[in-house]
Amino acid sequence: MDIYLSPKQLELRADVRAFLDAEYPPERILQMEKDEEYPDDFYRECAKRGWTALPVPTQHGGSGGSVLDLCVFVEEVGKTSISLSTLYITGTIFGSHALDICGSAEQAERYLPAIVSGEKRFALAMSEPGAGSDFAGMETRAERVDEGWRIDGVKGPISGAERAEVIITAARTASYPGRSRHKGISLFLVDNRGSEPTDGLSFHPLSYAAMRALMVNEVHYEGVVVPDSAMLGPVDQGWSNLARLMDPERLANAAQTIGVAQAAIDAGVAYATTREQYGQPISRYQAVSHPLAEAEAEVAAARLLVYAAAHKRDLEGPCPKEASMAKMLANNVAARATSAALQCAGARGYERDSHFMRRVLEVRGCELGGGTSQIQRNIIARFMGMG
Ligand SMILES: Cc1cc2nc3c(=O)[nH]c(=O)nc-3n(C[C@H](O)[C@H](O)[C@H](O)COP(=O)(O)OP(=O)(O)OC[C@H]3O[C@@H](n4cnc5c(N)ncnc54)[C@H](O)[C@@H]3O)c2cc1C
Repeated sequence: MDIYLSPKQLELRADVRAFLDAEYPPERILQMEKDEEYPDDFYRECAKRGWTALPVPTQHGGSGGSVLDLCVFVEEVGKTSISLSTLYITGTIFGSHALDICGSAEQAERYLPAIVSGEKRFALAMSEPGAGSDFAGMETRAERVDEGWRIDGVKGPISGAERAEVIITAARTASYPGRSRHKGISLFLVDNRGSEPTDGLSFHPLSYAAMRALMVNEVHYEGVVVPDSAMLGPVDQGWSNLARLMDPERLANAAQTIGVAQAAIDAGVAYATTREQYGQPISRYQAVSHPLAEAEAEVAAARLLVYAAAHKRDLEGPCPKEASMAKMLANNVAARATSAALQCAGARGYERDSHFMRRVLEVRGCELGGGTSQIQRNIIARFMGMG
């Protein structure tokens, strides 16, 4: 099932696995989620081991990894924890791809080497309490002032926002009616923390059922003033640039859920082959083994679709239909796989600190982020000429 992977990618996968097995055993993941302990040391290690350099072009000190490389990486991390893989996706992939898509030379020089060194993590603030799927309905505004732009509004839920050094913020800079609402949206690189924290920025943690270590926030902008140089891409062109950023986001999201799904299946098999009822391991009952067998096949198929879509993105550029297909299928297959694994663990799977339950909830979170499965189906249908 590794037909798409090079020896280098297989080596990357083995290195990541060895590191996570040594440093993030299951009991540590549990504690981290319980204590809502933001995994700073994971990110530091990623920088030390050259993994934050993966999505950054070589001319800026990165290793110029492909989208497929990134998928291999986050799939492996996702097997251990979605908080860790999502931190990596938001921290490095969003920032480096956004700068690649629409950043100026000066912005690239300022931020990309800092992604490589691990000094700057990114977050992406598109959603708002009143504008989730219908993100063009956003109300956050940026208005011209003498010093640059003044941003007011509320964004959320935003993954890892509080601990990010840079928040890519989508705000309305011009108003258009009805179906043209997507026009007039601009992107800003809002610096957070550092020696001069941005005035007017505040963070309100959202209490989610899983991914608690990641810190998902609502972000409030009250008169946040940024200079002209903070605008990412041309004014009013944010929508099309975000659309281009969605391919890597959705593919990485899909890959990490494949990782969770595989971990759930493996844990389900381990449990079913050791748990005995009626005098024999429950894995002997087809009612237990077949759902896991079916999940194994579905996950293998979804993985190939994710890799194929990533490969297409690397070779040919934008692939919104394939990215949406990969995300929808991977998320749905992972939901079935994690649920099958939970079922085979019986009441143990339902315990508060159960990894089986954690994985079910993690997949649900991934399905919501980056556009729900319904929204992915809308996109796929549109590319098929329907609607
Ligand atoms: C853990 C987590 C992390 C997140 N991180 C980020 C982040 O870092 N940055 C960011 O910008 N956002 C983030 N989000 C927000 C995420 O992108 C939104 O939750 C998502 O887009 C859905 O929006 P909503 O929750 O407002 O649901 P709504 O848009 O209110 O939708 C509610 C339901 O209606 C369905 N629905 C809505 N419209 C349609 C339609 N036209 N056709 C069919 N069905 C429809 C949806 O599929 C959903 O099932 C995160 C969300 C979660 C859960």
